[in-house]
Amino acid sequence: MRGRETLDQVREDLGDCQRCKLAKGRKHIVFGQGPPHAELVFIGEGPGADEDEQGLPFVGRAGKLLNRMLESVGIKREDVYICNVVKCRPPGNRPPEKDEVDACSPFLFRQLDAIEPRLICCLGAPAARTVLGLKEGMLKIRGRFYDYGGAKAMATVHPAYVLRNPREEKILREDFEKIHEFLKQPREKR
Ligand code: SF4
Repeated sequence: MRGRETLDQVREDLGDCQRCKLAKGRKHIVFGQGPPHAELVFIGEGPGADEDEQGLPFVGRAGKLLNRMLESVGIKREDVYICNVVKCRPPGNRPPEKDEVDACSPFLFRQLDAIEPRLICCLGAPAARTVLGLKEGMLKIRGRFYDYGGAKAMATVHPAYVLRNPREEKILREDFEKIHEFLKQPREKR
C-alpha cells in the first residue's frame, strides 16, 4: 500500500522553510530529485555549492562520480531518487549539526514514506546515523543490508570521500555491485 502522503505534499509542507539556521545562507532548498516511487533512494549529507546554486542534489563532482558508479552497474540515474539529510547547504560544507538534522530529517522520513523504495543507500556516516542509527565507523557498517520498515537499507562511503581518497573507489564500486544484485532479485510481496 502506498503511503498516505505524496512527495508533492511533503514539498508543499516544507514551503520556504525557516525551521533551522541553515535557511539563512541558502540560495535554494534542495528537496530531492527522481521518480516519486523509485525503487532505489540515495541519501547524502547535505547540498554543496553546486547543489545550492542549482537546487538539485549531487550535481557537482561528487554527483559525477555517483553517475559513473551508477552507469558502471547499469542503473540509470533518472531511475533513482536522490536527496540529503538536510536540504540547505551547511556553510563551508561542514557536516550538518544535530539541531539542523533534528529539524530537517522528519521531512526526509516523510519523503521515504511517500516513495516506498525497495532499497535505501546512505552515502556517508551522517546519513547512516540519521536513517539507521548506525554510529560505528563506515568501514564497519558498509555494504550490509539492514531493515528499514518494509525496505532494506545499506550504507557506503560518500562519493566526496572517494574524491579525496581515490584508492577507495573500489569500496564504492563493490557496494554498487551489491545494490545492483539486490535490485535484480524479484520484489518481495508486502
Ligand atoms: S535545512 Fe531543512 S529544516 Fe533547515 S531550513 Fe533547510 S529545509 Fe528547513
